[in-house]
Amino acid sequence: MSSIPTPPPAFRIQLQPSGRSFACAPGQTVLDAALAAGIVLPHQCKTGSCLSCQAQVLNGQTDCEQPDTDAALPGTQALLCCTRPLSDLSLQCRELDGQWPVARANVRVLAMDRLAADVMRLQLGLPPGQHLGFGAGQYLDIHLGRGLKRSYSLAAAPRDDGTLELHVRLRPGGVFTGQILEKLKPRDVLRIEGPFGMAAVATDGGATPAPLLLLATGTGMAPVKALLESAMVQAQPRSMVLYWGGRSLDDLYLHAQCLQWQQEHAWFRYIPVLSRAPLAWEGRRGHVQEMAVQDWPQLQGCEVFACGSPEMVTAARARLLLQGLPAMAFHADAFTSATV
Ligand SMILES: Cc1cc2nc3c(=O)[nH]c(=O)nc-3n(C[C@H](O)[C@H](O)[C@H](O)COP(=O)(O)OP(=O)(O)OC[C@H]3O[C@@H](n4cnc5c(N)ncnc54)[C@H](O)[C@@H]3O)c2cc1C
Repeated sequence: MSSIPTPPPAFRIQLQPSGRSFACAPGQTVLDAALAAGIVLPHQCKTGSCLSCQAQVLNGQTDCEQPDTDAALPGTQALLCCTRPLSDLSLQCRELDGQWPVARANVRVLAMDRLAADVMRLQLGLPPGQHLGFGAGQYLDIHLGRGLKRSYSLAAAPRDDGTLELHVRLRPGGVFTGQILEKLKPRDVLRIEGPFGMAAVATDGGATPAPLLLLATGTGMAPVKALLESAMVQAQPRSMVLYWGGRSLDDLYLHAQCLQWQQEHAWFRYIPVLSRAPLAWEGRRGHVQEMAVQDWPQLQGCEVFACGSPEMVTAARARLLLQGLPAMAFHADAFTSATV
């Protein structure tokens, strides 16, 4: 009779200075194991690009499959989203309090409608009695089976009825947005996990008179919309300027809505930016990061949230930091393509 093989024992990961520890299975990333244990560590893209999940390895051996990045990490630093333990580890890293725990749920597709020819809005409902806590600016993963998953920003502030909204740019041939979404219909069920990323941007204006600059391209509007909606319920919202970029006006699928918000809310300014504008376009031409740099030569006190194409996020970070923005004041969600 053949015996069932026992799984290899998990490694123990200990965090300094808190001393908290958790188990990490061989092959699992340290970040995934921490989140599964309810310990929220700084992270954003989970693909090794944004460098938010850097930590120092004090002790132990790791296997880090860091994708190509411009920023080389010093010897003992590791990116926890792509670090797998080869032994027990001791790590020096920051822990985040007050962030929502990561949960998994089967959600039902309540509605699907086109916001533009290539952008689909998905409204999702959680099972009765289940709630997903999250903050504006965070995202969730949709599990596609066989280990595949895709990330999508939550496109609405938390709602009383618990429904969730996503804005999905359709990519012909894409595993999720091409093949799966094509067959998806209302009442179908999707497996989600989240929230991920950090709800790091404050939307109330109390102590922060300098504006929050929002830079978005394409469906990078999704987390920006969630931030704007959460500001709308604040007693004293922070002043915000949105630069939303696309090739043509058709790409700015909530253009009319943004103009309306600008009329309704004195704290909000909206600047559409087109890179391939027709001759008749009287607005701004170029790229969102260039417009922000032109308009804000003094960035003192400002914070920036950049969201959308990885090229824009990388260029915006470089340009704005060169202009004097402290690295801590730059928050971003780069819509990097999944590696599987
Ligand atoms: C933190 C995070 C949040 C995200 N939020 C959103 C969101 O709110 N809305 C949204 O539409 N997308 C978002 N994305 C991107 C999303 O996760 C998928 O990568 C995208 O929808 C493509 O998935 P797919 O399976 O259809 O395509 P894949 O099968 O993964 O790829 C198909 C083809 O499209 C290319 N491709 C895939 N993604 C991109 C991209 N972003 N830019 C350029 N080429 C690409 C691939 O290189 C490949 O050639 C987010 C990504 C991250 C990391």
